Amino acid sequence: MLSEFDVIHRYFMPPAPDDSRIVLGGGDDCALLRLSSSSEMAISTDMLVEGRHFFAGANPEWLGHKCLAVNLSDLAAMAAKPVAFTLALSLPEIAPKWLAGFSKGLLALAAEYGCSLIGGDTTKGPLTICITVFGECPAGKALRRSGALPRDDIWVSGSLGGARLVLASLRNEPLDELPAPGGAAGDSAALLDAEQRLHRPTPRIALGVALRNLATSAIDISDGLMGDLEHVLQRSGVGATIDVDALPAHPALAGRSHSQRRDWMLTGGDDYELCFTATSNKRDEIIAAGLASGVAVTRVGHIDDLPEDRFPSLRLQDAAGATFSPSFHSFDHFRTE
Ligand code: ADP
Ligand code: MG
Repeated sequence: MLSEFDVIHRYFMPPAPDDSRIVLGGGDDCALLRLSSSSEMAISTDMLVEGRHFFAGANPEWLGHKCLAVNLSDLAAMAAKPVAFTLALSLPEIAPKWLAGFSKGLLALAAEYGCSLIGGDTTKGPLTICITVFGECPAGKALRRSGALPRDDIWVSGSLGGARLVLASLRNEPLDELPAPGGAAGDSAALLDAEQRLHRPTPRIALGVALRNLATSAIDISDGLMGDLEHVLQRSGVGATIDVDALPAHPALAGRSHSQRRDWMLTGGDDYELCFTATSNKRDEIIAAGLASGVAVTRVGHIDDLPEDRFPSLRLQDAAGATFSPSFHSFDHFRTE
């Protein structure tokens, strides 16, 4: 059975064109087109489908925010600044109240990031929202998945697993609660924040831009840290070691068992944080870039030479140095098990 990524590689990734206007084609968070000798345009498309990416009856204002935020997150991963976007909408019916809420959430985020709606398409059909976003970056400064080098540090922004926790509760999945007093109920401010992570994620644009001259590679975490980092490893031709005990857990995970916290931080999607690499002499500057961008950054591992046997190229290690293989995966739309 082909995976989502096998399909893309087999059918939709033709050889790189011999066209100097196309700086970077498919396979990264954005493609890059040359605008002038000094600047490039970053372009990315993301689609949200009812019942797949969001539940039927989802709050339309949050949905408007989210469908643009996930696209802006791909610009952040390339260190590009938002310019404009198009909106393709498939609607089952004309519902003015829903449309007003959706438009409000969408346009508020667009205004916040100076990203103008410049067109789109509207049709009747199952509720589906597809946005293409356009950003700008000085020539040669975009961060790619392919730039990680052995001995680089691996960093993540913000915290992980919060969105996955909220998804678990919306799906009525069993929660692995700790018996410790105060833990299981969770702190309500932390839970509210986790809900926002799932429904109204914050694209890390300021951090991406601040990393332009500091990071060697970057990706945004949409499908889970492990799976997304593996894309970086593949494109860079390297391996990596993650110290799972160094991962920044969302505070709402405090009441969960150690193993559930780990699973959700490693494979939970929808956090829209950045995972990036940088040489170790940049540590102080990266911490300062995080502070200036209003988001914490945490060092969680390092890049290795590509292992002889190639797989697994990602090693997971705990604070005591013990390695383990997870029995779970990041998100793939076509995975059947
Ligand atoms: P992201 O999670 O950053 O949005 P995806 O995992 O959706 O990225 O896609 C991985 C790469 O594959 C991207 O470079 C994307 O442009 C490309 N891609 C995905 N679907 C298609 C498609 N149908 N045709 C061509 N390229 C595609
Ligand atoms: Mg991405």
